[in-house]
Amino acid sequence: MTTFNIAIVGAGPSGFYAADHLLKQRDDVSIDLFDRLPTPFGLVRYGVAPDHPKIKSVTKAYSRIAKKPEVRFFGNVNIGTDITREDLEAHYHAVIYTTGAQTDRMLNIPGIDLDGSYAATEFVAWYNGHPDYRDHEFDLSVEHAYVIGVGNVALDVARILLRTQEELQATDIAQHALEALAKSNIKQVTLVGRRGPAQAAFTFAELKELGELADADFIIDPADMTLDPVSQAAVEKNKKSRQKYELMADMAQREPAGKPKQLFLKFLRSPSELGGSEDGHVSSITMERNDLIEAPDGRLRARGTGYMRTYPAGLVLRSIGYRGVAVPEIPFDDKYGILPNVAGRVGSANSPVIGHYTAGWIKRGPSGVIGTNKPDAGETVKMLSADLEAGIHLSPSAADITDLLRSRNVDFIDWNAWERLDAAEIAAGEAAGRPRIKATTIEEMLALANA
Ligand code: NAP
Repeated sequence: MTTFNIAIVGAGPSGFYAADHLLKQRDDVSIDLFDRLPTPFGLVRYGVAPDHPKIKSVTKAYSRIAKKPEVRFFGNVNIGTDITREDLEAHYHAVIYTTGAQTDRMLNIPGIDLDGSYAATEFVAWYNGHPDYRDHEFDLSVEHAYVIGVGNVALDVARILLRTQEELQATDIAQHALEALAKSNIKQVTLVGRRGPAQAAFTFAELKELGELADADFIIDPADMTLDPVSQAAVEKNKKSRQKYELMADMAQREPAGKPKQLFLKFLRSPSELGGSEDGHVSSITMERNDLIEAPDGRLRARGTGYMRTYPAGLVLRSIGYRGVAVPEIPFDDKYGILPNVAGRVGSANSPVIGHYTAGWIKRGPSGVIGTNKPDAGETVKMLSADLEAGIHLSPSAADITDLLRSRNVDFIDWNAWERLDAAEIAAGEAAGRPRIKATTIEEMLALANA
């Protein structure tokens, strides 16, 4: 029986789900799972908020997949520099790209490049100890922070800005972020949604958490809860929106408990400009009031009313969505930030890129929760599997990729090495009364992994 060698590029949730589906659907595959970082788990390690440990426990299931005899992990291997598309095609019958969405959507308003204005994705990667972001500096000496967007990432960053040291200490937040947040002067955080409460992207559980912060009152202006007739109808029709709306309406009626910090949630406003001080630092945010208009597709869109107001602001985090980054030598759809694909096979229906597949955020865009990637990867593997049956695959000629990596002096790490790094991080955490202290440079990771 032929064994099909499959490469998966990107060891985040979608990479593990793709491996899992492959192993469940076929008994003739062997899988090499690559990641450019020495650490596996992608967004679970570097995106999920540190105060959400339950979501992170999914790594236990991923580890079980990685330990199957048909699976090998190659951490610290960069596709595009360490190995090329040609190398992959010489070693594998098929490649699945699960590289996620590694950057942010841009907000083009005057002042967005001022000091003190950052992408929330950078802040998230920084507090989660991503090696590419550990040296970023966020000025937390200011009092007023604005977070643009009302998705779950916006709520994550707002919570992390307002958590007490005791709360953060109990998480695996990066040590440098813990120390920087200990000195933070942020007293007020305002979340800003361009549309209304009925269109808020965050989910119920994440909203509820905002009302339970130890040090911050959560304040919604009851006037913001008024719905236009179309939103009212949408809320009545959709159970999830209704539950969220009812919780918000209830929270809007609560009296602030007088906690030392405040978290505000505002709707129907779009930032139009960030003002700067003489030294080039954000000092204000100007926002325009919006109303909602029905687009031809039935969606309600925000429309500026021309009514502007300016507020003092020292920190602005734009949290308006992630965006995928091109994979070297593979077609890329720049408009949507994804690899163009048909049910996971890269390319178009008329011109497929034989042997190349994709799953997860780089396939469909940055939407859904972690579990959404499971059926998504399933669809890709179904397509791949059907292609293998039909004899549509690459024809690798070279032997083991390990030889190539060694010949190029690529310092890759395997699953055992990752487990040594993992154990070392947990041990460092235990010594400090924390669940884990993450290694945050590649050098440190490799040293612990190879110890
Ligand atoms: P998201 O859910 O798509 O939210 C993006 C937010 O940005 C929306 O409020 C959107 O408003 C707003 N926005 C977009 N363009 C804008 C613009 N030009 N000006 C002002 N606002 C703008 O994205 P996300 O928060 O980055 O999250 C990504 C995915 O990860 C989501 O599916 C999310 O649920 C998931 N996630 C889940 C968790 C969790 O389960 N705890 C945690 C983090 C992330 P409109 O609605 O008007 O477009």
